[in-house]
Amino acid sequence: IPGGSSSNLKQVKLDRESELRIEVSDEPLRLRVVNGTAEIFGAELPPEIWRTFPPRLKFAVFTWYGATIEMDGVTETDYTADETPMVSYVNVHAILDARRRFAKASTSTDSEPPQGPRVIVVGPTDSGKSTLTKMLISWAAKQGWKPTFVDLDVGQGSITIPGSIAATPIEMPLDPVEGFPLDMALVYYYGHTTPANNVELYKTMVKELAQVLERQFLGNPESRAAGMVINTMGWIDGIGYELLLHAIETFNASVVLVLGQEKLFSMLKDVLKSKSNVDVVKLHKSGGVVARNRDYRKVARSSRIQEYFYGLSKELSPYANTSSFSDVQVFRIGGGPQAPRSALPIGSDPVSNPLRVTPVNIEERDLLHSILAVSYAEEPDQIVSSNVSGFVYVTEVDVLRKKITYLAPSPGALPSKILVAGSLTWLESH
Ligand code: ATP
Repeated sequence: IPGGSSSNLKQVKLDRESELRIEVSDEPLRLRVVNGTAEIFGAELPPEIWRTFPPRLKFAVFTWYGATIEMDGVTETDYTADETPMVSYVNVHAILDARRRFAKASTSTDSEPPQGPRVIVVGPTDSGKSTLTKMLISWAAKQGWKPTFVDLDVGQGSITIPGSIAATPIEMPLDPVEGFPLDMALVYYYGHTTPANNVELYKTMVKELAQVLERQFLGNPESRAAGMVINTMGWIDGIGYELLLHAIETFNASVVLVLGQEKLFSMLKDVLKSKSNVDVVKLHKSGGVVARNRDYRKVARSSRIQEYFYGLSKELSPYANTSSFSDVQVFRIGGGPQAPRSALPIGSDPVSNPLRVTPVNIEERDLLHSILAVSYAEEPDQIVSSNVSGFVYVTEVDVLRKKITYLAPSPGALPSKILVAGSLTWLESH
């Protein structure tokens, strides 16, 4: 370091409608706003206050009217950009806001109760879907709405661990470090990081989630008027495309925001043209979106799981518990080993039922390092349609003593004996 200084303070002056794009290095980065106003993905930064950003986070500090930012630390990269799609994004927000106000002002005496916008954000991988979702949610919350955020991306898991689909009401702009709150989330555990593992199960869970939200909206005019913002996965061709259509239909989306792909936009526009109540809108991808490869995604998934048990900066300590095999029941949905054709009666089809729930023999099946969901189901046949209260991580299976040891985020007995396994595993690395 020239001058040999141990401090790496750096000030950046941002003009109006420009942003500072940052990739944090392997060391955390401190940052604050010294002058003016700035926001991170829709959430305003309080003036003067230092915030610490964890290693490898990628984000932008955007200002509408100009700001001076101060950074303390060494980044992987940081640069300013004055070409951003932010004006078009905030215009979308303004239209959504008007629709929310309209829904709120409408009388519910009509046969159809007034309904705020149901926005679904679609696009290829690394087009900035999650980021746009965050902005729309934060801008809405800043204006006092309580929109519902829905996450259908089982590959990443923005609300809880990957392999889940989930929804949560949002009451405040999102914290740029903490992200989405988990405490009020409605979570379904699909158990795999791509819908391809069990398409039927994925669709069934999407439907369950949509139905529960629909019921909640009926009793809650405030959240109904605020509507929802739905984040989807980047798989947009073949079955992925069909799953997008399925989600649009299942959630009765009224606004489809297509990021960064002309072809997808024109396909959706075409199939949805008969529906006068659905708007399909094309938006530019931001030049700041950072492409992430397979390995990065794998690491990101693993850190999401770690974060669930240990907190963002390892400030939490999970509880280790041991249960007898007889005190828990572990199930798996669909996909189990199929009987060989030769073992079946002549003429029968060996295709297994994708929604069938089968008990897992803890002694035989290798559950070590699995993530198991704690289901709210009271009976095994309710598992597919039940949400989950949380997750445990299997750290030891003792076949001799017939005991299973696991980490849980909270102490005491599990809220249920019924646990659900998928294909999600984790290797704790510390
Ligand atoms: P996926 O393929 O997982 O569906 P996505 O389309 O949801 O990805 P994002 O997660 O929104 O894409 O963006 C990818 C990465 O780029 C994220 O780490 C995000 O924080 C970062 N990013 C997005 N916009 C910007 C920006 N303007 N400046 C800097 N980083 C950004």
